[in-house]
Amino acid sequence: MVQIDFHGGVDEIGGNKIHVQGFRNSFFLDFGKSFNSEGDYFSEFLQPRKLNGIMDLVEFGLLPQIKGLYREDYLRHLGLNHYQKPSSDGILISHAHLDHVGYLHHIRDDIPFYMSEETYLIIKALEETGMAGFNNYLNYADDFQLLAKARLNKNSKTTHKRANAKDTKKSRPIEILEPYKDFEIGEFIIKSAPVDHSLPGSCAFLVDNGEESLVYTGNFRFHGKREYETKKFIKEANKFTPTTLITEGTRIDRDHNTTEEEIEKKARELSLSHKGLIIVNYPIRDLDRFLTFYEAVRDSDRTMVVNTKQAFLLNAFSGRGYPEIDDVAVYVPRRTWGLMGGESQVCFDGEWVCSSEIDREYILGDYKGWEKDYITWENNVNYLDLQERPEDYMFQCDYFEFKELIDIKPENAIYIKSKTEPFNDEMEIDGRRERNWLNHFGIEVHTGYHASGHACGPEILDMIRDISPEKVYPLHTREVGAFDVLKKEGIEVVHPELK
Ligand SMILES: [Zn+2]
Ligand SMILES: [Zn+2]
Repeated sequence: MVQIDFHGGVDEIGGNKIHVQGFRNSFFLDFGKSFNSEGDYFSEFLQPRKLNGIMDLVEFGLLPQIKGLYREDYLRHLGLNHYQKPSSDGILISHAHLDHVGYLHHIRDDIPFYMSEETYLIIKALEETGMAGFNNYLNYADDFQLLAKARLNKNSKTTHKRANAKDTKKSRPIEILEPYKDFEIGEFIIKSAPVDHSLPGSCAFLVDNGEESLVYTGNFRFHGKREYETKKFIKEANKFTPTTLITEGTRIDRDHNTTEEEIEKKARELSLSHKGLIIVNYPIRDLDRFLTFYEAVRDSDRTMVVNTKQAFLLNAFSGRGYPEIDDVAVYVPRRTWGLMGGESQVCFDGEWVCSSEIDREYILGDYKGWEKDYITWENNVNYLDLQERPEDYMFQCDYFEFKELIDIKPENAIYIKSKTEPFNDEMEIDGRRERNWLNHFGIEVHTGYHASGHACGPEILDMIRDISPEKVYPLHTREVGAFDVLKKEGIEVVHPELK
């Protein structure tokens, strides 16, 4: 018998947390953050507190109340200190979007995570380039620890100091998966199947325990650069003759896709015809979208200018079929004192000196640890380069980097918006601000440059027919009723309920 419980992703896009319980063993498929439900109670300035462990999230049903699943340090801090064995044997991660991995931080440190190598690299980049908050994804640092310290002087009463992450950090147990290679979680034999989605490393899972066979699609599409992967997955899933299929249904109500290929073609034409700077905003972890723009500007001899986080990710993916960091230029923003590329003055022992005349080490003091490597990259540009030769570049600029426009002072620039449309109030407000900035600088906006990470309705239904399970659970969708057409074809459609 296999019991499947849904703790997220029901009637909403994302937040997937699916518990699969067999005879003896159990695991989760994804452990994501539900942006909409969390947004109902929390915001940027009203955050869950670490001091209350996971309970701030449990309070609103954002995390399921399950024993033996969460971090012991948080539970003990609350006096819930009855040690228990882990109640789950692992978490299978379909891909590195936060609505699938965002709550991993709260999982105890002896439950292993299973993921593809690309997913590992993306999460590592997220962790290392400083995403604030609850981000113990690959590494785990015990909280609420006081450590003995050497007494500095006899009179000092404090003998302990609060440990920081550096003192208690250790690696979590992580299993890197090879596509289509069997691995075991107790009674379950499982394999991962790569699929095309809007970031590298996405996969589906094929699970069997002798009694039942289950396929979980994760998120998938056919219109990106890896259609062949999704097609292979469907073929293998059909051979697997699953009893149960859990599929995403984000765009079940749509019947058309914009493709990556169409975006590349349009961007190429724009790049050839436009004579000024082209600014582009796309999701940074979508390396296939990066590749689309990279290819698009080659005929017009423009260089792609990326931010330091994108450079970090390209470096991590070196040798995996994406452009190398030498093939792009890295944009160096001015930080803290703003010493790069400017004429700012610095006071040395009472005497003011221009930043162009001071040693490099003082300038590097403006940047954080990991970022320094990319600041000193020989292929770097700053706002002055973009000002002087705007027609030579396509400039990656996210909304939160718009401050750069004040330095660049673009003339005759255009802006390609290559992101999803706003789907909640906060995004609407950001969208309004984005328009204000662009209007202020007289920058023309070009839309229609986004390809979704998800298959459309007819594709999803055909996928289900091709795999031909006995039973299907549609998840990660608000339009669960659209799957009912399959009932006439002998497939049982079960609308999942939130546990
Ligand atoms: Zn998702
Ligand atoms: Zn996704």
